[in-house]
Amino acid sequence: MNPLIRLIPAPLVRFFASPYVAGDSLAKAMDTAAALWAERSLTSSLDLLAEDIEDRATVDRNLATYLDMVDAVASDPRFATDGERPTVSIKLSSYTTEPLERGGDAAGSGDAVRRIVERARAKGVRTTLDMESRHWTDFTLDLLDELHAAGHQHLGCVLQTRLNRTRADLDRLPERIRTRLVIGIYAEPEEVAVTDKREMKERMLVYARVLLERGHYVEFATHDEACVRRFVGEIVPAVGATAEQFEVQMLYGVPRAKLLEELRGQGIRCRLYVPFALGWPEAVAYLRRRLDEYPQMMFLVARNWFRRG
Ligand SMILES: Cc1cc2nc3c(=O)[nH]c(=O)nc-3n(C[C@H](O)[C@H](O)[C@H](O)COP(=O)(O)OP(=O)(O)OC[C@H]3O[C@@H](n4cnc5c(N)ncnc54)[C@H](O)[C@@H]3O)c2cc1C
Repeated sequence: MNPLIRLIPAPLVRFFASPYVAGDSLAKAMDTAAALWAERSLTSSLDLLAEDIEDRATVDRNLATYLDMVDAVASDPRFATDGERPTVSIKLSSYTTEPLERGGDAAGSGDAVRRIVERARAKGVRTTLDMESRHWTDFTLDLLDELHAAGHQHLGCVLQTRLNRTRADLDRLPERIRTRLVIGIYAEPEEVAVTDKREMKERMLVYARVLLERGHYVEFATHDEACVRRFVGEIVPAVGATAEQFEVQMLYGVPRAKLLEELRGQGIRCRLYVPFALGWPEAVAYLRRRLDEYPQMMFLVARNWFRRG
């Protein structure tokens, strides 16, 4: 990690993290999701912040929290229909002390995910396998194939448009699987990825069109207003897709209230990705890593802080 980012005092990082993190417990995350739905008709996808796992106890805690999350989502009376309920976003690295990017074999990860999606299927909760760095792409897509073939139709996936392999990955996706398109948060080398954001966004639009034409449900996840407008104003009508076939997604805390309200007004579904931690030290650690990968974030957060409201 960049030593400068390590030096930023925790209280300052926490100050910057607070708009992006829905609290330090599952209950607080559920309250946030309920308020987003009740007040703004925005659905949520819940995510426990848990990366760089060092010990077995943390793996067990993460798994137990996800099983509780599925139960909480399924039984919360504040959501009247399945469509209103949050989805659950899962990071495969949260369940192993042997991460692939450090040469490990991801031991335990697949089994933990199988348990969560089994529980989710039994309770009618939709889950999404988040996509991590390039080291995880094959592992994640292989697991997705296996689970989909085993009948887990509630499961969705994520593809990162910065990766050059993604065009081919579109062709291997299970038929009609719900797919979130993102540019990708991980800084990948230019041997395997484009580094120009405009190119990543162009790819989002092209791939969204391919997915819609093939009957996938598309989750178009970006804060780039122009890109969202091109998606809903050009791609969706060109394909003839209905509002049942896609949604727009953004991260909790990124100030896009006006745009989201406008989209909701047009009957377009919008979902926020709602991360929570089980303690502020983990939220701070998460934001430090995000800052390391994406240093402009500090500037963006500061600017957005002043634009808030
Ligand atoms: C719902 C959702 C789920 C995601 N899941 C994954 C995943 O599974 N795997 C993965 O690799 N990536 C994931 N991402 C992250 C994604 O890949 C991008 O890194 C992130 O969305 C920033 O890219 P952008 O498309 O918004 O474009 P950018 O060009 O980076 O941002 C557009 C504008 O939005 C604003 N903005 C963007 N990010 C922030 C921020 N953090 N704080 C304040 N303002 C900001 C800025 O004003 C910027 O100019 C997800 C993103 C979302 C919205």
